[in-house]
Amino acid sequence: RWLKISPKTIIPTITSETSTIESVTPKALPLSPKQPTQNYVFNQALRCIQCGLCKQACPLHNEIPAWMALLRGNHLIDAVEVMHSTNSLPEICGLVCPQERLCEGACSLGKLDGPVKVGTVEHFVTTAAIAQGWKPDLSRVKPKNKRVAVIGAGPAGLACADVLIRNGIQPVVFDRYPVIGGMLSFGIPSYKLDKLILQQRQQLFSEMGIEFHLNTEVGKDISFNELLKTYDAVFVGTGTYRSKTAGLEHEDASGVIQALPYLMAVNRHTMGFSETEQQPYLNVMGKHVVVIGGGDTAMDCVRTALRKNAASVTCLYRRDEASMPASVKEVALAKQEGAQFRFNVQPVELQLDNSLQVTGVIVQSTKLGALDACGRKAPVVIAGPKRVIAAERVILALGFEAQHMPWLDEIGVELDNNGYIVTQQSTENALQTSLVKVYAGGDIVHGSDLVVTAIADGRRAAMSMITAMEQ
Ligand code: FAD
Ligand code: SF4
Repeated sequence: RWLKISPKTIIPTITSETSTIESVTPKALPLSPKQPTQNYVFNQALRCIQCGLCKQACPLHNEIPAWMALLRGNHLIDAVEVMHSTNSLPEICGLVCPQERLCEGACSLGKLDGPVKVGTVEHFVTTAAIAQGWKPDLSRVKPKNKRVAVIGAGPAGLACADVLIRNGIQPVVFDRYPVIGGMLSFGIPSYKLDKLILQQRQQLFSEMGIEFHLNTEVGKDISFNELLKTYDAVFVGTGTYRSKTAGLEHEDASGVIQALPYLMAVNRHTMGFSETEQQPYLNVMGKHVVVIGGGDTAMDCVRTALRKNAASVTCLYRRDEASMPASVKEVALAKQEGAQFRFNVQPVELQLDNSLQVTGVIVQSTKLGALDACGRKAPVVIAGPKRVIAAERVILALGFEAQHMPWLDEIGVELDNNGYIVTQQSTENALQTSLVKVYAGGDIVHGSDLVVTAIADGRRAAMSMITAMEQ
């Protein structure tokens, strides 16, 4: 059998609404997340018809039909090895990938009985194997006497380090934060991704031999130049951390916060770290909260504020519901948990009281107009009365941009007009920057995207470095 010990005691819940670190009380119950059983997972493997469309749709081209075949024969450990041959964090992707747009969206059974639950299988099987004591076997790896500095312990950096160590190259990972994961630890809320999963992975990576230098910011605690001199190559996977503004007056008023600092402070609190000046903890308990934005990060803010016992949470979006970039599932869950939505409204002003504390968001109605530069119908404000939506807390969730990293451009790494690192896309030196020894990947190259695409970049960059070092 797959499991030798009771799954209840060792397997983190699949979509746990109550983190094991933090005890929170959601205002209303979400869509009942059923803890999958071993039988459920086995039956999913039985359903697979081996068409392979999911493999093409997965950015990592995971060997999904091969795992399903192995699982049908009860070969759990072999399946986990195959999962790790293309993915460095399968237990995490299985939880956080938007599967409906990727692997499961391509499943041939989707229009019949619903897709094979690829993500659930990937998460369950990896978690079960790790709980049984599975570890990657690196005993046959021959050390190559090369060292690579990896800047950033987000999914891109971790994936790069994973591929390097499996190929005999010593990765040394630097991160300014006290734990690994980047947005996995500090961005994605704990009700979606239990932070204990990251701790478990950090231990596995350390046991594989990856060196971590945490609480170490490149450009401040150690210079980029020193890394260039000391290491055979450098990988930059620093993510995107500059929040886009709404362009409203008084965005710095008391009670107004950007989505990322808000979510990061909540995650820091959950993990037991103190708040920082850049990420102050915003208490929303008993307050009327307005979230401005219509993407997945806005939904994370909405659902987090509900869990933090806000009196009400209202999401404002300037287009219609069908145009929302957030996943349909996230919007449905937010509604079910008690969020209110106002579509076709443009925030035009923040209302403040005498002590400069926010009291409301002033909006005007919009309609959809001509296509904009991105090919989406642009919202156009309709002349008419302004309305006030009461708000004691306002969270701005309008997306992220590349942060300025002077230590990068000073040394001559080419950036594009928006501050993203320019990299080669050709196969043999994929993700090499304008400096021969420097490679980059993840959000800092292609903009804010997904965990799975950051992993794909980290792995490709590692393969390029390995090829370059062998020449
Ligand atoms: P990051 O994860 O941002 O990691 C970068 C790391 O670099 C950080 O740890 C940072 O501390 C470190 N760093 C930066 N500068 C320095 C420096 N100078 N010195 C040392 N270290 C440095 N994607 C999904 O697929 N599913 C989701 O459900 C999902 N939810 C999300 C929710 C939120 C709120 C956010 C913000 C993003 C979400 N994403 C989601 C997107 C996903 O998290 C990112 O695309 C992914 O984490 C990018 O990986 P990365 O490695 O490029 O960067
Ligand atoms: Fe699907 Fe993501 Fe796993 Fe690929 S990594 S198989 S897209 S869940």
